[in-house]
Amino acid sequence: MKGLAPFESPIEGSGDVSPQKDFSSAMAVAIAEARAGMAAGHGGPFGAVVLKGDTIVGRGHNRVLSSHDPTAHAEVTALRDAAQTLGTHVLSDCVLVTTCEPCPMCFSAAFWSRVAGIVYAATRYDAAAVGFDDAKLYEILGAKGRESFEKNEVPSSWERAGGGPFLVKIHAQAAVELFKEWMISDTKERY
Ligand SMILES: [Zn+2]
Repeated sequence: MKGLAPFESPIEGSGDVSPQKDFSSAMAVAIAEARAGMAAGHGGPFGAVVLKGDTIVGRGHNRVLSSHDPTAHAEVTALRDAAQTLGTHVLSDCVLVTTCEPCPMCFSAAFWSRVAGIVYAATRYDAAAVGFDDAKLYEILGAKGRESFEKNEVPSSWERAGGGPFLVKIHAQAAVELFKEWMISDTKERY
């Protein structure tokens, strides 16, 4: 499918999409989503919400196992939910808040949704430590991929990803602890 027009100043526009906003309560909802999905055996320990202003317009958790859908990552699920709620595929005045740094597929989905920004807490390295390793995918994509903020040690800063959405890593220890819960979970099914 042909792409949409390039981003137009995704950071400017509504003040509600500022990377300086406090995303901690939205992150708490995303963490709760992850925990609910994990408890239900729906998939991995990942949750996400889509914020429009201060309103959650989409939410979801990983449903790879329950829906037999390898693309049912939390971010994709939440973006689809938001698009249905708002009746549009253009989420340019929204921010995706996810418990873990998006994989390349989810980053791409966020790009196509034209969200103004992506906020995450746990990093790809936290996820890799419990078996969710995107390293091979980054390798196939022909680059090391974006360097995690964790690696760059600027966790509270933000940047534009090649003209796409802003990226913000916030601290939410509970998001990292999801992975510990996953490792000891009775419902865990490795995939
Ligand atoms: Zn993903």
